Amino acid sequence: MTTNTPACPQCSLEETHLEGGQYVCDTCGYEWPADAVETPAEDDSVRDANGVALADGDTVVLVKDLKVKGSSTTLKVGTKIKNIRLRGGDHAVEAGGYMLKADFLRKA
Ligand SMILES: [Zn+2]
Repeated sequence: MTTNTPACPQCSLEETHLEGGQYVCDTCGYEWPADAVETPAEDDSVRDANGVALADGDTVVLVKDLKVKGSSTTLKVGTKIKNIRLRGGDHAVEAGGYMLKADFLRKA
């Protein structure tokens, strides 16, 4: 089962769930308020289609077909790309050698 919950700020593992307005880490039991991670404040973080912050080394899944600019390649929805790099800017994510918009990606 996939979830949209963020990684645990304590142990950085991703097995977390939402419980009564708080995120709870299934691994270390750490709890933190859900609002804390949903602040719309301006920051530099690159967020995926679900608003989840991405980080270098994350694995992402495409949420739509993406035509690669300047080639006949189309990356299919559901394609999993490991070990992304954040570059900033409009096409903020380098994934598998392609520069992609974070909006079209979902953290796996
Ligand atoms: Zn944890």
